[in-house]
Amino acid sequence: MNETRRCLYCQSSFLPSRHRPQQRVCSRPDCQRQRRTNSRRQKLATDVEYRQVVRDSQKQWWDEHPGYQKVDLETKRKAIARVKPVAHQSQTPWSKNPTILDWLESL
Ligand SMILES: [Zn+2]
Repeated sequence: MNETRRCLYCQSSFLPSRHRPQQRVCSRPDCQRQRRTNSRRQKLATDVEYRQVVRDSQKQWWDEHPGYQKVDLETKRKAIARVKPVAHQSQTPWSKNPTILDWLESL
């Protein structure tokens, strides 16, 4: 009874799961990864409550992705340096601001 469909990402035809009639993505790992990334991005853009949850779970995320903690401080500093400073912030440059440096160290 199931009709084959074309995958949203790789364009190959697949048989949707009986349990997920809305399925638009085939079961290839690459496509599933893309689907997850995209649905997460969409949710981030639209769902304020979800954003709150993401913020709350950020610490857990860091714990589960120890590789990201190995990014050296210099890389983080460069990343921050590219961010446009907010006009009414304190006159202390961020690179001399102990609060920001502490925060960078704690990332
Ligand atoms: Zn696919």
